[in-house]
Amino acid sequence: MKLPQGKIRFALAFLFMVLAANFLAAQAVQQHVDNPGQTAMDPVPDDVTHSHHGNPNQFLPVIPGPIGDTVVTGNGINYHGGPVLKANPVPIYLIFYGNWNGTGSNTQASVSLIEHFVSTLGNTPIEHIATTYGDNTGNVSGNVSLGGVTFVNSSTNLNDTSLRTTVSNAISSGALPRNANGVYMVLTSSNINETSGFCTQYCGFHTHATLGGVDIKYAFVGNPDRCPSGCEIQRTGPNSPATNVGGADGLINVLSHEQFEAITDPDLNAWFDSSGQENSDKCNFNFGTTSTCTSTSLCSAAGKAASSKWNVSFGNNDWMIQQQWENAAGGKCVLHL
Ligand SMILES: [Zn+2]
Repeated sequence: MKLPQGKIRFALAFLFMVLAANFLAAQAVQQHVDNPGQTAMDPVPDDVTHSHHGNPNQFLPVIPGPIGDTVVTGNGINYHGGPVLKANPVPIYLIFYGNWNGTGSNTQASVSLIEHFVSTLGNTPIEHIATTYGDNTGNVSGNVSLGGVTFVNSSTNLNDTSLRTTVSNAISSGALPRNANGVYMVLTSSNINETSGFCTQYCGFHTHATLGGVDIKYAFVGNPDRCPSGCEIQRTGPNSPATNVGGADGLINVLSHEQFEAITDPDLNAWFDSSGQENSDKCNFNFGTTSTCTSTSLCSAAGKAASSKWNVSFGNNDWMIQQQWENAAGGKCVLHL
C-alpha cells in the first residue's frame, strides 16, 4: 500500500556558503514534495545540508527573535531564518483544474466538500498546532480562510512549468487576487497527471515563485483516485459519496498537509529538521487515534456503510487528516495542542 521509499524528490538547488562564522548557510530547496503514502523518512544527508557550515554535526544556529515565543528550539525541528505566513486568517485560494463536472470524485459535490473543509479549518484544534511556529516578528495565527475559488477546465496534463503558469494565469486574469500572504492550491481531477511525478514520487508538493513581482506560494494537490494504493488512506472516506470513491477525502488529507507546510515554511527556508523534513512530513500518514463511522457519526451514508475511519470533526463533518508536528514541549505528532 505504500509507494517505494527513496522517492521524495528534493530539487536541491543549492546551498552555498559562508565567509564568516556567524553567517548561515543558505538552503534553497526549490520545491518540497510529499508522498502521504510514505511513512519512512527520506533523509537529506546532513552533510548536504550543513557541510558548508563548518561543523557538520551542528544544527544551523537559530536567529534569536525579539518577541517571546516566535522562535523556539529543542522540539525536533529547526528554524532557518525565513518568514512564516502570519496573516489572520491566511487566505487559501483554490484552483480546480481538469474536469470537475465529471463522475466519481470529480464532481461539484467534491468541490463543495473541499471548499467547506477550507472554510471551516481556521482556528480548529488541529490547525492551531501551527501557532507553535513563528519567525522573528511573530507566530502563525492558526487561522485560515477560503480566499477564492476558480476553475480551469482542461484535459491537458500538468508539468511543473504549466503548474506555475496555471497559478500565474489565475492571478493575472483577475480570477484570484495577487497576495504574497496567501497560499494557492491547484487541485486536479483524477484524469489529470502532473508529469514530474504525481502518483509515482509524490501526492502533492508546495513551492513558491515570483509571479508579477510578488512571491507567490502555491501547491499541487492531485486527486488520489488516480492512484488510491499510493495516495489514498482508504478507498471509502468519511465523506465519500459512494463506496470506493474516496478521492475527495484523500485529497483533503494532502491539502491539509500542504497548506500547513506552506504556512510554516512558505519559502522553504523557515522550518524543517536536520533531515530536510518539514513539520507535516514528520507525521506523514500518521493519523493518531481514529474512530469508525457509525450511525451516530457525521459521516456520509457511504462512509458509514464502509465503516470508514476518521480522526477529527469540525464544520459538521468528520475528517481523516494526518497529525501535525507540535513545535513545543519537545515536539511530537498531535491532533491538537
Ligand atoms: Zn510535506
